[in-house]
Amino acid sequence: MKIIVVGAGFSGLSAAYKLHKEGEEVVVLEARDRVGGRVYSKELSNGEVVEMGGEWIGDDDKLYHALIDDLGLTKIEVGIDFMVRQAMKGEAISVDDCIAINRKVNAKLVAYSEKEKEAMSIQDLLDQVELSPAHRLLISSRLQTSQGTTLDKVALRIIGGSFSTRDGQSAYHRIYGGNQALATSLAARLVEVVCHAPVIEIKQDLEGVIVRTEYEKFLADKVVLSVPVSVINKIKFTPELPEDIRRAMTVTKLGSGGKLSAVLTEEPPLLAKQDTDAPYWCWTGQLRDGVRKKAITAFCGSDHALKQLKVGDQNDDTWFESIQTNCPELQFSGEYIKKDWGEDPWVMGSYTAMDNEAYAAANAFSKPFQRIYFSGEHTSPDWSGTMNGALQSGVIVAERILAGRNE
Ligand SMILES: Cc1cc2nc3c(=O)[nH]c(=O)nc-3n(C[C@H](O)[C@H](O)[C@H](O)COP(=O)(O)OP(=O)(O)OC[C@H]3O[C@@H](n4cnc5c(N)ncnc54)[C@H](O)[C@@H]3O)c2cc1C
Repeated sequence: MKIIVVGAGFSGLSAAYKLHKEGEEVVVLEARDRVGGRVYSKELSNGEVVEMGGEWIGDDDKLYHALIDDLGLTKIEVGIDFMVRQAMKGEAISVDDCIAINRKVNAKLVAYSEKEKEAMSIQDLLDQVELSPAHRLLISSRLQTSQGTTLDKVALRIIGGSFSTRDGQSAYHRIYGGNQALATSLAARLVEVVCHAPVIEIKQDLEGVIVRTEYEKFLADKVVLSVPVSVINKIKFTPELPEDIRRAMTVTKLGSGGKLSAVLTEEPPLLAKQDTDAPYWCWTGQLRDGVRKKAITAFCGSDHALKQLKVGDQNDDTWFESIQTNCPELQFSGEYIKKDWGEDPWVMGSYTAMDNEAYAAANAFSKPFQRIYFSGEHTSPDWSGTMNGALQSGVIVAERILAGRNE
């Protein structure tokens, strides 16, 4: 069987890797000049590698950890708990306070039945929890940053373990040399990965599928479509995609997200600080056990934050200056890089922020449309918005294709 995988992000590559290991003929077509998609590692001028996209690998990201081992990559413990942050300004909030806030919200969350949660947003949950104004602001800002949109637009059911902080003891990891190494390692094990190959048309009939890029035409038996939901409509489909998929494409929105990484001249202390205005947060982390990276990274989420911090303007220092002001304990060299994912033509946003309508509609992606199978972080609320989820979606699609290979 010949399979074309469209998109060399984590979902496309994990599907391709599994299909290839099972002996299928796979060609991956990628629009960019690199693999990895929303996982994008960059080297700063001082040699430190930072993540401009997907960064945090959690304890529960089992498939990610397994692939790191399988591919012989090295992981490093960051030394920071993603869910425990100090407020940058205003009332001081201790680590113990952060843990207490998470516990309080979690207690409320687990008290709801699945049925009750069906109509609720994250905002509805927070409205029900008794918190001091400063504590409310910190938790709301943290969640809005991560979701990339206002919390009334995000289904409560996708929040998963967001408050189960394991009392500040969760371990988060990164891949040594950059998370993108997972993508390059997967691609290196495949026979054909073609970059600079944006797919513009997919035409299928009883005989097979024709996949066209601007310059070439590929024939296949099946296609894995792993491009972000926000850019599927750049491809022409014959026959047209069915109504339930088009509806899921319309109602599934991506949040807004941007990242900034700055060079430090001295090894920094470990820190994680949340700004409650924009909002954004920033953190340092370990290079290896006991040695800290000479870099700080920041993430901002939601339209409001990107606009206020002027993330898309490469000549504007507003965000960098804010980080410098709020982290006076660090020594900045003055150099930094930043990226606004809303301006990236191959995603036009950060990752899905599903409301209850999108949550229900996502089911349309779980079955193939004739010869086209759908993978990617957007294809299920069970794995939306994460690297592990993207990997998982690829494996599941590959398993579906393999299960039907004799049909
Ligand atoms: C700023 C940011 C921070 C994040 N932080 C985290 C984090 O800390 N932890 C975490 O787990 N997750 C994080 N994520 C989310 C995670 O990175 C994504 O969920 C995951 O990488 C998505 O993988 P994917 O394969 O579904 O999509 P993508 O990575 O977007 O891959 C899709 C690929 O399709 C290509 N493509 C698009 N159109 C075409 C076309 N027409 N023809 C050919 N190719 C095409 C794209 O170029 C891309 O390479 C973050 C994401 C962002 C943007």
